[in-house]
Amino acid sequence: MVNLRIRAARNAMGMTQQELADRVGVSRQTINAIEQGSFNPTIRLCRDICRELDRTLDELFGGEDMMMYCTNCQTAYEEERCPCCGSRKGRPAAPEDICFLAEEDSLQAGILEDFLKQEGIPALKKSTVGAGMAMKAGAIFERFRFYVRYEHLEKARELLEEIRNS
Ligand SMILES: [Zn+2]
Repeated sequence: MVNLRIRAARNAMGMTQQELADRVGVSRQTINAIEQGSFNPTIRLCRDICRELDRTLDELFGGEDMMMYCTNCQTAYEEERCPCCGSRKGRPAAPEDICFLAEEDSLQAGILEDFLKQEGIPALKKSTVGAGMAMKAGAIFERFRFYVRYEHLEKARELLEEIRNS
């Protein structure tokens, strides 16, 4: 997605891409790529850009629904740091990011899978134990992790709530 807001804020400050790049310590190509939406800046770079352009993160990089994405854990989160690994190195989540949704036992997993299918949400389902282990331990112990694209995460979480509350 092209980020028109950064360009607009930069122009309002009378700053060229090169000048902004120099101030935040990256190349002009990087600034250009961010404005073109072909590069996802780190949260740190986002903050530096905001500081130089005198704007908030929300104003330049998102709306109220902006989430960060931890590439270690494939977790989307709204907090200061990743709730799984504690890393602060997350970047703003992109629509195609594969995000962890839930871990369920095999019964719940079947239900969740059906719900997701009905809503047309493509999901990745991974067994938490190897196939050989699952056979030894019995299917009842097998658990599954579900992942969906970030653009489907909110809807998928709603479905999950529905299932858990029913
Ligand atoms: Zn993490």
